[in-house]
This record gives sequence, C-alpha cells and structure tokens, in this order.
Amino acid sequence: MEGNVADGLWVEVKDFKKDTLGYGHYQNGSIAVRMLSFDQSVPDESFYANKLIRALSLRQSAQLPSSHTNCFRLVHGEGDGLTGLVIDYYDGVAIVQAHSTGMHVDREKIAQALKTVLKDQLKAVYYKSQGTLPGKVRDEKNDGYLLGMAAVPHIVKEHDHKFYIDWEAGQKTGFFLDQRENRKLLGDFSKGKKVLNTFCYTGGFSVYALKAGAALVHSVDASEKAVELTRQNIALNGFDALQHACYAMDTFEFLKDKKDQYDVIILDPPAFAKHRDAKHQAMKGYQRLNAEAMKMIRSGGVLFTFSCSQVIDRKLFYDTVTSAAIQAGRDIKVLSHLCQPADHPVSIFHPEGEYLKGLVLSVH
Ligand code: SAH
Repeated sequence: MEGNVADGLWVEVKDFKKDTLGYGHYQNGSIAVRMLSFDQSVPDESFYANKLIRALSLRQSAQLPSSHTNCFRLVHGEGDGLTGLVIDYYDGVAIVQAHSTGMHVDREKIAQALKTVLKDQLKAVYYKSQGTLPGKVRDEKNDGYLLGMAAVPHIVKEHDHKFYIDWEAGQKTGFFLDQRENRKLLGDFSKGKKVLNTFCYTGGFSVYALKAGAALVHSVDASEKAVELTRQNIALNGFDALQHACYAMDTFEFLKDKKDQYDVIILDPPAFAKHRDAKHQAMKGYQRLNAEAMKMIRSGGVLFTFSCSQVIDRKLFYDTVTSAAIQAGRDIKVLSHLCQPADHPVSIFHPEGEYLKGLVLSVH
C-alpha cells in the first residue's frame, strides 16, 4: 500500500512482487483490508449488483422467498463474499446493516444495487448501522431511509406465522431470521405441551409452539419492550391470554421456583461473549443457565438450547452443556444438533461465520 488512505476506501492489495492479489475496503486496525475481490481487474460499478444476484439466487435455491415465507437474510457478510455487510429482507423492505467503514461509505451504491436486482419487489431500503459500525462513524446519526419509505410495524410471514417487524425501534434489524428452521422444529415437539420460551424477544418460538397446538406457552424476556412485542405477535396470530402469558423478568430469576412445570423449554440467550476475553465468563453463563433449566424441566421434557456467540465454537458449546448435564444430575440424550439456516451461509474458509449452535435434548 502506498501513501495515506482514509478508512473505508477501496484499495488494491499486491504481493511482494507487486502482482495484484485483489481489492478490498481499507480500515485502520487489526484487519487492515477486508478483501472483497480476488480478481486481477478493478471492481466496476456492477460489483454490488453482481454479488446481490448471486446472493439472491442462493436464497431462491433454498425456496426463499416462497408463498409461506416472505422474509429472509439476503446478504450474510463473509458467507456472501461481502465482508462487513448484512442485508435482511422483509417483504419489500431491505434493511442494510454495515459492520465496516467501507460498507458504510458504499451504502448508497448498495441501495442502488438492491434496486437494480430486486426491481419492483423493492419498496424501501432502510439503513440501520448505528449499533454495528466501528469508531467515529458510529457516533454519526446516519440511520434512516436510503430509498423509498415504509410504515412500521410491517407484517411479514415466516412458514405462515405472522410477525410485526419494526426495524426503526427493534433490536438488530428488527427480527431474528436465523431461528426460522429451529422454530419450525420446535413445533414438532410442542403439541399438547406446556412450553417455556426464555429470552423470547419477538416471541418467535412462542408463536410456533402455539400454532403447533401447545397447551400453554409462557414467554420471558428482561425487556418490557420485547414482552410487549411478543404479546402483539401472539394476538396477531389469533391467540390470547388463555393460552399464553408473558413475563418481563430475568430468566435466572424466573427459573428459580418453577420445578416440574414445563415439558419444553427454549433457552436462546443473547451472545454471552462478544470478544475472546469474555469467553470464560460466557461459558460459566451458559453452564449455569443450562444446568438450571435441566434441573427444573419435567421428566421426559425437551430442551432447545442455543448459543449465538461467535467465539464459543460448536465443540465448546457441547462441552459446556455436557458439564451442565453433569451438574444437573439428570439423564440427558442429544436428539438434534441445530445451526443457522441456508440464508446465513458460512464460507468454508471462514469457519467463524458459523455462529449459531443449538442442541435439542431429551431430559429424564
Ligand atoms: N429467541 C429470540 C431472540 C432472542 S434475542 C427470537 O427467536 O427472536 C435475546 C433476548 O434476550 C433479547 O430480547 C433480550 O432482551 C433478552 N435478554 C437479555 N438478557 C436477559 C435475561 N437475563 N433474562 C431474560 N431476557 C434477557
């Protein structure tokens, strides 16, 4: 690299013989260049559109969208060759989330490329990056519409379950699309059961359990706002307080005096570890949480347990849950290993991209 380069600009990367290796976004820090192209020629103005065409075609091959599901992740960073960029699509509205200064600088180009590729299917593009951008740009107030406008809340369907989405006020882009297939699987275990959905946020798992015929569902989240969202989504799907109750409280507190009350429990906490140095604390957190749930679930019950921490890999999560099982002193069998769905692809050269890990456990 020659001369001074501003954060977020495209740079060419050469080897020691001065041969071109590729192109990427420069950002001062431990990863100086986030590589976006390994071509010999300079990426042209169709770069983003070409990447989006490929990303969309991958989703279409996984039946996304379909007549049952009209929301999905269109771009999953490294997994789509677009390091630093996430795009979630909610029935006509694309939410762009930049994790690097380069993607932030290119946001208008990305919005235009979305229009080129999605054409009339696209009504609006909203930029939501305040919580994910690094350094100085994080403090600028940039969130807002890049293209068109859409009213919130917006209703989408996922496997024919309806959800309100509010990308302006909600966490992340407004919804956790990564649990789609795991929620569907939960339905298979829910008929006639008493289900507890902890860390419920929008109540995704709760809605699936009720639609699948659960006898009763309780949803818990520490955030009042999340509990309200859950309540609204339960009503949107035609259920009421007879089948469902919400609790705005800490999961650990809630679990304290609930022995033998639930047949199915979902543990889907936020990332306990976002950085490597928090790893030890996070493992302790997962161990304690899982041990508590294992101790109080009814005999013959089923536990859906997840970790979305990138630094806790699949083996470490499994070992931590094993240690919780030893602590709980119950007989536990593994029924399924769960992961993120096809619209959250993982580049085989970037295994850290596999962030969502889950286990379905039978507890006696
Ligand atoms: N399962 C959800 C996503 C969970 S996101 C889904 O399918 O969409 C994590 C949620 O955990 C957030 O809504 C956050 O408010 C909540 N949370 C964080 N700490 C908590 C705690 N100690 N007890 C209960 N909820 C908590």
